[in-house]
Amino acid sequence: MPRIITAILFIVSVSTALANPTSSVLIKNIKIIDSQTIQTDVDLLIVDGAIRKIARDIDDKDVHLVIDGTDSTLIPGFVATHNHLHMPGATFLGKAGAKLYLAGGVTTMQTTGAAEPLKELQLKQVIEQGRVAGPDIVTTGPYFTGPDGNDAMVRITDEQAIDREIEEWVDRGVSWFKVYRHTTEPQLKAIINSVHKRGAKVTGHLCSITMQQAAELGIDAIEHGFIHAYDFAEGKTAGECDGSNNYRSSLDIQGKQLEQLHKTLIANKVAISSTPSIFEAQTPNTPINPAFKTYLAPHLLERAENYLQRREKAGDSWYFKREWLDRTLQHDRLFLQRGGLLTIGPDPGLHSIPGFADQRNFKLLVEGGFTIQEAIQVMSANGATSLGFADRGYVKEGYRADLILVDGDLENAPHTINNIKLVIKNGVTYQPHELRKGLEGQLGKTVERE
Ligand SMILES: [Zn+2]
Repeated sequence: MPRIITAILFIVSVSTALANPTSSVLIKNIKIIDSQTIQTDVDLLIVDGAIRKIARDIDDKDVHLVIDGTDSTLIPGFVATHNHLHMPGATFLGKAGAKLYLAGGVTTMQTTGAAEPLKELQLKQVIEQGRVAGPDIVTTGPYFTGPDGNDAMVRITDEQAIDREIEEWVDRGVSWFKVYRHTTEPQLKAIINSVHKRGAKVTGHLCSITMQQAAELGIDAIEHGFIHAYDFAEGKTAGECDGSNNYRSSLDIQGKQLEQLHKTLIANKVAISSTPSIFEAQTPNTPINPAFKTYLAPHLLERAENYLQRREKAGDSWYFKREWLDRTLQHDRLFLQRGGLLTIGPDPGLHSIPGFADQRNFKLLVEGGFTIQEAIQVMSANGATSLGFADRGYVKEGYRADLILVDGDLENAPHTINNIKLVIKNGVTYQPHELRKGLEGQLGKTVERE
């Protein structure tokens, strides 16, 4: 007899699920949405970690777990592209970070810059071994930067030294590298060469080098998008991180200049990895998810609360303007509609908390005018494309069973993204509240051993 699980009661604990990764799961009477199709009142069968069948009235004989999906929506797990395992004030978020990401629906994530790359690699491994619950992790090497940047960053400029450094990290399992604001053009050239000949990829948080230049040099992705489009900074010196950021308020989003840049990015297959939730965290008078009070370690909570106080007190005179967030989303949708590969991640910090901030990103896209299917495309399918995964990002037969079961009709009530009942990764079911158990006050607290 299959176990029948109602929409309210789940009896599969995470530990049970981890111990039993190959069981079959049948979700009955579900609405499925991905970026290509919407199907209502269908059943979905998972066998051995993959979506075996989507059809009406699938037989539940021999199925280990049956879930009633009435009044729920099934979407692909998030494949997110700016999910650090560090944040200002904490160099490694470890297992707590990984669990919070997974609880928020993230089944695959790119760390996009590491403060502790060896620890990231180790965490990726124990997750793959099934010893710790968390998303699949696409790890990043240490940041490369020019004369500026912080102490943990690599500042080498010699071409051969760059090549050796990259070889070492690729051998350890790193598949992406990130360049930071002050990287010079010769440095970026050498990095891209060295990385590409090893089959890995490069992304950048740019400033000294423009997006146009980086695209022409062969970069694979650009972080933050519009906010850091220093191509349009007035008074910018070539190769320097300077100039005015007035373009954030004044650049014509629909105009020719931006259209030209988008053409270059698209022709060179450069993804833009947008990070609206951290920008919202910097914007006065915006909603705050109280989760940060629950999960942040005391020293990070103090830091976040202090920031929020200053932000709210300053109001309109604050350095980060509301219109920048709105215009980022306008820009992002236009890039997507022009055929650009738009991806997204939370860039954790302040009260932008792993997992919760990924859910917030989804909502921000919808509030910014994206249709539900466009939002899902950005949150899942495009991330998979950028990271080179052909087996995920959609709810389709043959694809990996990386899914989010939302309590409610997500199509007509996007806020229900906050009500995730179940996250399924590689066919294994996880309940968010189980994943989050015991993590109160733990995020960024200690660097645990594994
Ligand atoms: Zn970042």
